[in-house]
Amino acid sequence: MNTIAQERTPLYVFDQLESEVRSYCRSFPVVFTKAQGHTLWDRDGKAYIDFFAGAGALNYGHNNPAIKRKIVDYLSKDGIVHSLDMATEAKESFLQTFQRVILQPRGLDYKVMFPGPTGTNAVESALKLARKVTGRETIFSFTNGFHGMTLGALAATGNRMKRSGAGVPLTNTVAMPYDRYLGDDIDTVGYIERLLEDDGSGVSLPAAMILETVQGEGGLKAASVDWLQRIAALCRKYGILLIADDIQAGCGRTGSFFSFEQAGIYPDIVCLSKSIGGYGLPLALTLFKPELDVWKPGEHNGTFRGNNLGFVAATEALSHWEDDRLSRGVYAKGQRIREVLAELADMWPQLAAEVRGRGMLQGLAIGVDGLAERICAHAFERGLIVETSGPRSEVIKIMPPLTIDDEALEQGLRILAASIQASSKAQASNQAGREGREQA
Ligand SMILES: *Cc1c(COP(=O)(O)O)cnc(C)c1O
Repeated sequence: MNTIAQERTPLYVFDQLESEVRSYCRSFPVVFTKAQGHTLWDRDGKAYIDFFAGAGALNYGHNNPAIKRKIVDYLSKDGIVHSLDMATEAKESFLQTFQRVILQPRGLDYKVMFPGPTGTNAVESALKLARKVTGRETIFSFTNGFHGMTLGALAATGNRMKRSGAGVPLTNTVAMPYDRYLGDDIDTVGYIERLLEDDGSGVSLPAAMILETVQGEGGLKAASVDWLQRIAALCRKYGILLIADDIQAGCGRTGSFFSFEQAGIYPDIVCLSKSIGGYGLPLALTLFKPELDVWKPGEHNGTFRGNNLGFVAATEALSHWEDDRLSRGVYAKGQRIREVLAELADMWPQLAAEVRGRGMLQGLAIGVDGLAERICAHAFERGLIVETSGPRSEVIKIMPPLTIDDEALEQGLRILAASIQASSKAQASNQAGREGREQA
């Protein structure tokens, strides 16, 4: 087993000891040791620009200095780290700051629930609450939606490969077509409404609809403002709760703190995780309108619902929202990313590429099978960490920390352009080679 060849690969410890289920280390096969801002370093000291940002858990960058100072201070004065969901000063400050900086200025009236530390915990609690409040079982999810890996959230997730891991039937959800799923000319809200109004449709009235405004894992399709508004109106009309899964698109990723603000909608339940912890620390929130707070004490419990380091980090991270500087930066950088992606799509028509997404959650869907992954692999060789998204990993996803400076953003985009060029050339010469062989 312990062959010399295995020992020579940088990841041999992981290959030998860690389960086959490991995932991102396969795309970025080095051992990382250090990170700061938008940069990671591997064991050999090679630097990488991070266009992945912990899948959106690092909106404020790696080891953000201001947040780090708060965490170190808190630890050095023996601030309580684990407290179940007991009342702590750290949680009190977070709740007050979240209320003052985020909810109040936006006119949003939400109770805050701490459902456990991960995104899928927030989704499970949202689905459970919606069913409890309405007494209904069905949830409408959307094609290519992603909501997490535990059974309830997985039942609302589109990806066939991910779903097949469940081992039991994934029930009580119905996948509805997302905005433009059936082409630009087919109005999917009209289709959903028809199913709801028709007693013969075979579809029961759902407890809730759960959606992402930009589908982070499912291929970066973004719903239009008009579609979101009409879905919200449809939910109101039929007494269906609207759940916004803002785990990836929220915390400023699309420019505003919540991704649904641009649509002016007011979801009944909102799920937040990933960057709410500020420092990449696990933290999740389920927000809901006060009249939905029908939980009995302890009815949805969990050991890690009081991650005080997460609260300390999250409270400091929210200071980025005291003014609109970060937000304006995201819109500006998002604009620049869009411009460059559109240029690349024009420059390389053979990629059959389409620009998708919003803000700093954008990408390039590549029309050639397997090419997006090869481009990302080339980019990694050149010192850029960039991942794919979509059911066939067909979308190159550009997702740097929101705090990245213009220079690093440009440098990363140049590496991406060079990687596209290299991969397209390789593609063309492979094709020429194949055609040559076929003719011979
Ligand atoms: C990542 C993600 C989740 C799941 O969060 P985990 O912390 O991985 O459980 C749910 N919904 C969306 C939109 C996500 O991006």
